[in-house]
Amino acid sequence: MAGDRNTALNFSVAPERYPWHGALWSALSRQFDQLPHALLLQGRPGLGKHAFAVQLAQALLCEQPRAGVACGKCHGCHLFSVGTHPDLSGVGLVDDAKSITVDQIRALGDFLSLRPHTATRKVVIISPADAMNINAANSLLKLLEEPPLGSMLLLVTSHPARLPATIRSRCARLLFRLPTPSVGQAWLQTRPETRNQPAQLLDLAGGAPLLAEILAHEEFPQMRAKLLQDLAGLSQGREHPVTCAARWKSLGTARALGWLHGFVSDQIRIRMGAPASALLNPEVAARGAQENNKYKINELYGFIDVILENYRQINSPLDELLMLEDVLIRWVRLSRLQ
Ligand SMILES: [Zn+2]
Repeated sequence: MAGDRNTALNFSVAPERYPWHGALWSALSRQFDQLPHALLLQGRPGLGKHAFAVQLAQALLCEQPRAGVACGKCHGCHLFSVGTHPDLSGVGLVDDAKSITVDQIRALGDFLSLRPHTATRKVVIISPADAMNINAANSLLKLLEEPPLGSMLLLVTSHPARLPATIRSRCARLLFRLPTPSVGQAWLQTRPETRNQPAQLLDLAGGAPLLAEILAHEEFPQMRAKLLQDLAGLSQGREHPVTCAARWKSLGTARALGWLHGFVSDQIRIRMGAPASALLNPEVAARGAQENNKYKINELYGFIDVILENYRQINSPLDELLMLEDVLIRWVRLSRLQ
């Protein structure tokens, strides 16, 4: 990879091929030598599209790929693994940038206009492609209309509708689908953070295994302590749902709701006689039986549904602050009912 323009993209090769990518790989490997010059990798977040693009780029630059898999041993693979392959480039969001700019896309055009150094082709990754602003998209369109010989463009997006139709129509679509729950859960069972509650986390993540893993990671203790404090304050009338909702939003709506789901699930587990070791939140076990037994189990189940319903709306146009206020007002009602 040449130049600063690559710094925004993570090219480190994912250590594994995700099991739910199997069908896509076999479809690609059958036409590996005649791939179209532009692919649009699309599908929901949390399915490993970017990792797939990186693995595909490596296979495309490998000197002796087998059935779409890079050999891992050749000179090309070596350059790739240390991040210095001169025939690979990519753009993404730099630091806190909100969009991919026209200058970034022009730099890709310059890169593609030169002949490959060591491989037979040049590969670029644009991820997330939907982050291109309108000028960047227009500049890319020119590249797609007259692609330099031997160039291969991989566009990654979770929001294809945000890309101009003119761009979409010039790419072959590679659609990433949700794995079946059994495949997703089996994979989560192999990861230390998610192995104890694969079904629940997968459900919370809408079926996307990598998103489920992120949710599990993000239950860091500091945030948990703050959220617990807020819940106690709400139950006791010391805190107001509107102030708490603003705080929860600043911590990240998905994380906060993900944690709340685990917290309420723990209450249900306790009511069902689960031992402390089976709980997600050690603080819940430490609260004592009186505090933990005060909620009715059917109301807890109802509240879990409210959390999931709101969680699924996170990327919709609904205002996240209003969603959180709604959830917390219902929590206050639930805890005052007892
Ligand atoms: Zn190789």
